[in-house]
Amino acid sequence: DVLLHQLSARIDARQGDMLIVLHQLGSHGPTYFERYPAQDKTFSPTCDSNQIQKCTNEALTNTYDNTLVYTDRMLGKTIDVLQRYSEQRDVAMIYVSDHGESLGERGMYLHGTPYIIAPKEQTQVPMVMWFSPTFAQQAHLNLACLRKNADNKDYSHDNLYHSLLGLFDV
Ligand SMILES: [Zn+2]
Repeated sequence: DVLLHQLSARIDARQGDMLIVLHQLGSHGPTYFERYPAQDKTFSPTCDSNQIQKCTNEALTNTYDNTLVYTDRMLGKTIDVLQRYSEQRDVAMIYVSDHGESLGERGMYLHGTPYIIAPKEQTQVPMVMWFSPTFAQQAHLNLACLRKNADNKDYSHDNLYHSLLGLFDV
């Protein structure tokens, strides 16, 4: 949440094109229980330890799911801020995780397994895009086509860079 502190002021302070990077810890392990405030705990019991292999699978999954709920709320708040600008500016948000986390599937935990043998839990990550209506219009985005491709095709981090360049019309 602290990433959103004074985000509006930063947007107000500048004219022209702007790229703002919010780098959150998200669901990065092993201390999943430190990725959300205690009062935002949705699922319990939780695994409030970095010795995650000692927790039950239920507690570990609950703790991880709490991080997802918190990130989801944070992204919602980010879109709320951007939406307040959608009349004056063309605004968009792209969210992507750097990696996933193993939660004990096949005896694996955490992330960073060499890519060639890494399980899908570590390599398949969420990517979310949100565009204000005027942004979509100005950038000539075909949202129906984007949604269809998101359902039917595979994308990777390699697609992020030229997508950003395209959105900025570079
Ligand atoms: Zn990470």
